[in-house]
Amino acid sequence: MKPNKFSVEERAKILDRLSKDYFDILVIGGGITGAGIALDASARGLKVALVEKGDFASGTSSKSTKLIHGGLRYLKNWEFSLVRKIGKERAVLHKLAPHLVLPEKVLLPILKNAALGPKTYALGLWIYDFLANVKGNDQRKMLSKKEALAIEPLLPKNKTLAAVHYAEYRTDDARLTLEVIKTALLYDAAIINYNEVSGLDATNHRIQGAQVRDLISDKSYNIKARYVVNATGPWVDHLRVLDAPIKGKKIKLSKGVHIVFDKKKLPIRQSIYFEGEDGRMIFVVPRAKVCYLGTTDTPFDALPDQVDISTRDIQYLLSQMNDMFPDIHLKPSDIISAWAGLRPLIHEEGKSLAEISRKDEIFISDKGLISIAGGKLTGYRLMAKRVVDLIRSLYYKEYNSTFGQSTTQNIVILGGIFENFEAVRAYIETLTKQFKSYNLESDIAEYLVHNYGKQSEHILAQLDKLAGTTAEEKLIRSELLFCMDHEMVVKPLDFFVRRTGKMYFDVRSVIQWKDIILSDMQKRFNWTQEKNMYFENQLNILVKGFNYN
Ligand code: FAD
Repeated sequence: MKPNKFSVEERAKILDRLSKDYFDILVIGGGITGAGIALDASARGLKVALVEKGDFASGTSSKSTKLIHGGLRYLKNWEFSLVRKIGKERAVLHKLAPHLVLPEKVLLPILKNAALGPKTYALGLWIYDFLANVKGNDQRKMLSKKEALAIEPLLPKNKTLAAVHYAEYRTDDARLTLEVIKTALLYDAAIINYNEVSGLDATNHRIQGAQVRDLISDKSYNIKARYVVNATGPWVDHLRVLDAPIKGKKIKLSKGVHIVFDKKKLPIRQSIYFEGEDGRMIFVVPRAKVCYLGTTDTPFDALPDQVDISTRDIQYLLSQMNDMFPDIHLKPSDIISAWAGLRPLIHEEGKSLAEISRKDEIFISDKGLISIAGGKLTGYRLMAKRVVDLIRSLYYKEYNSTFGQSTTQNIVILGGIFENFEAVRAYIETLTKQFKSYNLESDIAEYLVHNYGKQSEHILAQLDKLAGTTAEEKLIRSELLFCMDHEMVVKPLDFFVRRTGKMYFDVRSVIQWKDIILSDMQKRFNWTQEKNMYFENQLNILVKGFNYN
C-alpha cells in the first residue's frame, strides 16, 4: 500500500473539494478520535471531510503515556466492562499495525505498606488477563522479591515484597493518528490540518455544516454535510456552545504531565508501573535512548490551548520517582524533554478526578450536532464504530436508506503490512544489515520501522538521490521529504514533534538537524527570511526550554 500524495502543494485542491462538495459527514478535530471516525466512515463508502485547527494530533493525541493498555487501574473503580472492551482491543490494534503497536512487558512492583497486597494484585491481574482474553506467555506472572530485583535492580530492596510481570503494548500516539488519517485518505476522505471551525451552520434548526478558516491562507469558507461530528477532545464544549448553551453533562479537564530523562540518568531496563506515595499510579517507560514517566492528574480550568507544565508538576513527579528509586537522585536539571496533555473527562457530580470514568460518551444536541468525548487512545476504533453506527441509524430514519457495517477490524493501518511481530523484527534486521554499508547506527533501523513500518522503503529509496555530507544527513533529509510529500508537514514542529517524536525522545538530533530541516523547508515552501527566523526562534526556545531548575 502506497501512501497518497498529501502535501502543501495539494492544499488548494483539498480546500476546493471541502468548499464545493456535499459530504455525508464532517468531522471536526484531527486527534485519534476524529481520525478513527474518518477512517471508519470513509471505509463504509461515505463521503467524509475532516478539519483540524492545528496539526494532526497536536491536542491530547500526542501527549498521552503512549500505551495501548487495558487500564488496569480501572479495576479499582469496578469498571469491568471498560477493561474487557479495551483490553481485548489491544490485540486488534497490534494486528493492524504490528510495527507501531508494540508488545511491552510491564513490571508492577508490590511494595510494603501499599494499599493492596500481593494476593489482591494477583487476583486483579488474573481478572485483567481473563477479561482481555490474554493467553500463553503474555499472561501475568507473579515474581518473588528476588526475581523482581533480578529483572529490575533499581527497585527499592527494603520496600519490595514481590512483583507482577504482565503484558501491555506501547505506541506513538501521534504517529498512530497520522497513519489512521493517511489510511482514511486511501478511502478518499478530504482531510486538512490548520483549518479551524469558527461557527456551525444551523439552517432550518439543523446542523448541516460549518464555517471554517484556513489558518495558512487566512481564507474562510463553508463545508456542507448531512452530519457534523464534534471530535475536538478538550475543546468539545467550546464547539458545543457554538450550537447551543450546554444542557446536561459537561467536560471536566484533567492535566497530565510527562517528563523525559536520558537512559543514563534513569537506566530502567523495562516498563514499570508503580504506586506512588499518594496512591496514584505512575508509568516509567524506556524508549530508545530515553526513559519517560508520568503522569500527574490535576484539575485544569484554563483554556485548552494554554496547557503548560508547572514547577509543582515537576516536583510531584520527581518526588514520586526519587521515593520509589532511592539510588537514582533525579533532579529538575536532568529533564531533557516534557509534555502536558488534557484528559477530557465527563463530569460526574461528587467524584474526584481519579474516580471519574475514562469511558467515552456521545451527545446529540437538539439540532443534531454529534459530540464525542472521553475515552482512550486504545479504544479509538471502537469509539469510531459507535459514532458511525449511530449515524447509520439516523441515516436510516431520515433517508430510509443505509450503508455498510464497520470494517476497520480488518483494515491494516498504513505501514503495517507485516504478517506478525516476528516479521517486523526480521524487517528491522534486514535494514540494519543494509545500514552497515552506509555506516548508520543500528538503532536507526528500529526507529524507522517503528515510525513508518514498510513505508521506510520510500524513505530509503531517496537516500542516494539526496545531497549530504554523511548518510545520516541524507537520511534525515529523506525522512523530511517523505513527511512533506505524504504526511502534510506544514511547519517545522509538525516534523520534529508529531511525525518523528524527536522533540520528545531525541532532542539532541533536533539541535543537530534543525538548520538543515529549516533550510529544506524554506526552499520548498518559499518562506520569507522573516518566517524562517520565526520558526528558528521557536525551535531554539523549545530545545532550551526543557530546563526545570
Ligand atoms: P485530541 O487529540 O485533543 O484531538 C482533538 C483535536 O480537535 C485537537 O487536535 C484540536 O486541535 C482539534 N480542534 C479543537 N477545536 C477545533 C476547531 N474549532 N476546529 C478544528 N479542530 C479543532 N489513552 C490511552 O489509551 N493510553 C494512554 O497511555 C493514555 N495516556 C494518557 C495520558 C494523558 C496525560 C492524557 C491526557 C491522556 C491519555 N490517554 C491515554 C487518553 C488519550 O490520549 C485520549 O483519549 C485521546 O488522545 C483523545 O483524543 P481526541 O482525538 O479525542 O482529542
